[in-house]
Amino acid sequence: MAAFRPDPPRPVSPVAPRTDAPRGVAAPVARVIEAFRRLPGIGPKSAQRLAYHLVRMPEAEAAELSEAITGVKQRIKLCETCADITEAITCHICTDPNRDRSTICVVEEPLDVTAFERTRAYTGLYHVLHGAISPTSGIAASDLKIKELLQRLQDDSADTSDQTVTEVIVATNTNLDGEATAMYLQRAITPAGIKVTRLARGLPSGTDIEYADDATLAHSLESRAEIG
Ligand SMILES: [Zn+2]
Repeated sequence: MAAFRPDPPRPVSPVAPRTDAPRGVAAPVARVIEAFRRLPGIGPKSAQRLAYHLVRMPEAEAAELSEAITGVKQRIKLCETCADITEAITCHICTDPNRDRSTICVVEEPLDVTAFERTRAYTGLYHVLHGAISPTSGIAASDLKIKELLQRLQDDSADTSDQTVTEVIVATNTNLDGEATAMYLQRAITPAGIKVTRLARGLPSGTDIEYADDATLAHSLESRAEIG
């Protein structure tokens, strides 16, 4: 009769600390779960689902995803004129000779540019602030691309070879921060003799521009009104 021998000890896979991953998840998977958790709109369950999807993914596909993520950081920069995301020094909208150079639409995020472009109702230029003034979150005017906008308007008025900007449309979101930003811009820009307008009130308050439907956005743009 064979002597009783206990099972050999099972190899213990290292587990990453401080994660929402279930206990016993291998460290590399836990690391991916943790990374997905930091993305906006991804809860612990979705993070786990995505991580295990990645585990089952063919290696070539995973490599392509990884390359796309690294590439977006390496190849993307902000347009020197409007601060929108671009691959070139100046974006395709700023360099387009067919755009109306008398109007600049000021938005919070690059996705808002996409929202306006989708409506096909706007042919002017843009300026992306990369956020809004928010006293509650400690975001000041100096944290945004506001001084770049004011400098741009100043340079524009000095350059007589080109069409001058006569109107700035403030298309920040219709929440408290968006309104605070609109008031700030109105006070900073109006003294230069440039008209500052705001999207029409038809846009429900609290609206994120990026989620507004095309027709509402086009309408609120068309019936914009001067601030102040
Ligand atoms: Zn640009």
